[in-house]
Amino acid sequence: MITNKLIHPRSIAVIGASNDTRKPGGKVIENLLVGGFDGPIYPVNPKESEIQGIAGYRSVSDLPQVDVAILAIPAASCVETVRVLAETKETRGFIVFSAGFGEVDPAGAAIESEMVRIADAHGAALIGPNCIGILTPHYNGVFTTPIPPSDAHGCTLISGSGATAVFIMEASTTIGLRFSRVFSVGNSAQIGVEDVLRYIDETESGASDTLVPPILLYIESITDPQAFLTHARSLRRKGFPIAAIKAGSSEAGGRAAGSHTGALAGSDAAVDALFQKAGVIRCRSREELTTVGAVLSQRGLAGPNIAVVTHAGGPAVMMTDTLSEGGLTVPPISGEAAEQLQEALYPASSVGNPIDFLATGSAEQLRMILAYCENRFDNIDGIAVIFGSPGLFPVDDAYRVLHDAIRTQSKPIYPILPSVVNAAREAEEFRRNGNIAFPDEVTAARAIATAYHAHAPFDDAEPTRSAPGSAAPAPVPAPEAALAARIGELTPGPDGFLPPADVAQILDAVGIPRVPEVSVYTEDEAVASAQVLGYPIVMKAIGPVHKSDVGGVALGVATPEEVQTEFRRIMAIPETTAVLLQPMAKGTELFAGVVAEPPYGHLIAAGLGGIFVELLKDTACGLAPLGAREAEYMISSLNGYELLRGARGTPGVDITQFVGVLTALSHLVGEMPEIIELDLNPLIATAERIMTVDARIRIKT
Ligand code: ADP
Ligand code: MG
Repeated sequence: MITNKLIHPRSIAVIGASNDTRKPGGKVIENLLVGGFDGPIYPVNPKESEIQGIAGYRSVSDLPQVDVAILAIPAASCVETVRVLAETKETRGFIVFSAGFGEVDPAGAAIESEMVRIADAHGAALIGPNCIGILTPHYNGVFTTPIPPSDAHGCTLISGSGATAVFIMEASTTIGLRFSRVFSVGNSAQIGVEDVLRYIDETESGASDTLVPPILLYIESITDPQAFLTHARSLRRKGFPIAAIKAGSSEAGGRAAGSHTGALAGSDAAVDALFQKAGVIRCRSREELTTVGAVLSQRGLAGPNIAVVTHAGGPAVMMTDTLSEGGLTVPPISGEAAEQLQEALYPASSVGNPIDFLATGSAEQLRMILAYCENRFDNIDGIAVIFGSPGLFPVDDAYRVLHDAIRTQSKPIYPILPSVVNAAREAEEFRRNGNIAFPDEVTAARAIATAYHAHAPFDDAEPTRSAPGSAAPAPVPAPEAALAARIGELTPGPDGFLPPADVAQILDAVGIPRVPEVSVYTEDEAVASAQVLGYPIVMKAIGPVHKSDVGGVALGVATPEEVQTEFRRIMAIPETTAVLLQPMAKGTELFAGVVAEPPYGHLIAAGLGGIFVELLKDTACGLAPLGAREAEYMISSLNGYELLRGARGTPGVDITQFVGVLTALSHLVGEMPEIIELDLNPLIATAERIMTVDARIRIKT
């Protein structure tokens, strides 16, 4: 658990302190001194009496009481050091730089656990081991550079990789992104990314009136997805934007490809789904993370309309393209105000948007354009300014105009300063004054779009059961008790697949509609049942898991003679025990499914059937429990969404019923967590109804 003493210690000891600043134990002292830590620093080194001008201690037992200890000593000595400090010096914060623990071998893992056990026993926080340390507003407890300029309103970085944290801070420096604190959690022996989120969640309220600084994450493993969800979602609701890289697919590959959902989903889809539910933006690179982080640290866009202001045509065109691709607009600017602005600029300038005020454009003209965008152009929500230099004269004046406008205007301004050589000095000063400057317009445009489309976290499913004693009827026919009681009665095959009769009962219990069907064992039964169902019918082999693959599906069977022929043919297919008859359904084929994805829980997938799911992999996923709003979001995020809504004269499908199927599946796995795979493939949907024609359920055996 993170403690206050760890964040704001009164004193810090560095064990393994050095005069050599090329060593971690030397560099961290230098960083602490540079950061102006306001309490005593106690260097410990058995051989030196003075370290970087500070009186040293020969051993930890000589130390006075000390709040935080930073360990830069071999792994083997760490346990004893932590013990002495925790037991006799009241140390309640440990930052362990040392490597050679759980990341190396089982022996390392054992000393790592012992160290944590001691820390836990004393209520002490332990960061690492195998980390670069932490930066808080009170001290620079890292052994690396750069130390980004500390800013109380800067973002928080939590990283599962120390080196990556360094590279993220470096990348941030080049765009002017600032940090209030950085946590490198290393092996996460005691404190992982989730724990840092919990700490922020429990200690901070966000702020409704001012800008809440973003939280940026680099994660390699999420050990407790539920804790991650709880705190990330809570922080999002308090206004903290969160963007995260989750690297490393832990795909075991051991999953039997018995279902489409299983093959499509996988743990990476579960990460997407977790982030979707928590309202966390997923980023794929350090550059994307820092750029999105920079956009999120600015005021948000009230709408999608961007003015692109430049004195160079090309970048403005690229930026406009990328903003449009990202679902933002660069709307035409016209009318009286536009004409006035045009008058005030050089004749060849254009104000139509992009607003191009030419290579000869002046700082004064820029100031005027920004003011028009702010006050006169009602159809503008944000302003991107691309301003570089051909290297002939300095551009300080233009950057000063930007600096002032950012502080006085209400619409967000995105400075893109592409002259990383010609105007390096001016851009550096611009950033030093607390501004963000993006070097590349396309990267910036993508991040602006990503941040704009970030959505609020999704609530869990609305309760479907009426509270005891309440008069409100349950929306789903109360199936829970019946389902729970039935688990023991189910008759799965050796691979865990349930027979059609069990599947049918389960779907009925949660209210997932299916086509009428009859199982038949003789030709005569088949002909009689076909008559009752009404031609044309569909005949399917009962037994084989993938029926079409073995020729076990006959569609559009139209006469009694065909029924007899198909019956004989299908019964001859190996493993076939009976034949299933269904009426032929017409409509759009949809797909829905579930796969258990521990430790994330059940992943629910949805998509269009046929080639959409098989070839285009056009599926959307969400983690159970799924509420209607999240199910709607999933469906609307499908590439084939327009088809579902009814495009080009096609009638489309009843999306509300599709949402109902997804929430019913979520409800089902809540009641029957034994389900490890479930496929409704396809559901056949029209504007009036949706029906399952093929379902498979596999349970843990
Ligand atoms: P499997 O997935 O085991 O191959 P299905 O029962 O899904 O078998 O049948 C294969 C395909 O046949 C379905 O994807 C669907 O296109 C079509 N089909 C199956 N049942 C019906 C039905 N009742 N009405 C219309 N088409 C159907
Ligand atoms: Mg099927």
